[in-house]
Amino acid sequence: MKHITLKAVVDEDKCIGCKMCEKVCPVNAISVVNKKAGFKDDHACRGCANCADRCPRHAITMVERDDPFDVGVDVSKFDYDQIRALCEKAHLNPEQVVCYCVGTRAEEVAAALLSGAKTPEEVSSMTGMRTGCTIECIQPLLRLVEAAGNKLHPNPKGYQWYGKTVTAWDIPEEVKKKYDSRGFYFDEDRKLLDQIVQIDARKLDEKEDK
Ligand code: SF4
Ligand code: SF4
Repeated sequence: MKHITLKAVVDEDKCIGCKMCEKVCPVNAISVVNKKAGFKDDHACRGCANCADRCPRHAITMVERDDPFDVGVDVSKFDYDQIRALCEKAHLNPEQVVCYCVGTRAEEVAAALLSGAKTPEEVSSMTGMRTGCTIECIQPLLRLVEAAGNKLHPNPKGYQWYGKTVTAWDIPEEVKKKYDSRGFYFDEDRKLLDQIVQIDARKLDEKEDK
């Protein structure tokens, strides 16, 4: 969940229609029409300031909204077994924070995907995830989008996201063998990570309460 207090405002006199803002917006909120940047929907901006930071003509200013609002997906409205299964498929614990800027947990991203989001941009728009630094949380987001059965676009628009990096679950056997004698413990690490993915904090809380 994110409380949206800022919005980007374009000074059309300064805009040269270069489309840099379009390329860096994590929620596809801003677009260039007739060589001028602007918004179809006044509530689409999630206030990250990516566009303002990168506009070569300093044509974008971040201003306080006079109608702040919340975006987020209510996890309680979904079958938690489905949420857990989707997160486990992406090798994430549902309660794991996946976006530290916004505080989004994996369970909320799973809920957004279960309610129909298909792309990283749609998840970001629904949850506010990836509208802080806009960088660090792209990897877990891509893993969750793919685990939900969505194909990742081979050439994502602009500079919004990049290919997935290798995780502990993807290391090929020949690489493991190569480094086996050099003090690497890939399989042991993976087992430990699998245990973390499967910890059910709700059940632990119940046990402690008894
Ligand atoms: S980055 Fe700036 S100059 Fe380029 S299209 Fe967007 S607002 Fe206009
Ligand atoms: S979400 Fe970020 S990049 Fe997109 S229009 Fe708003 S401030 Fe600009």
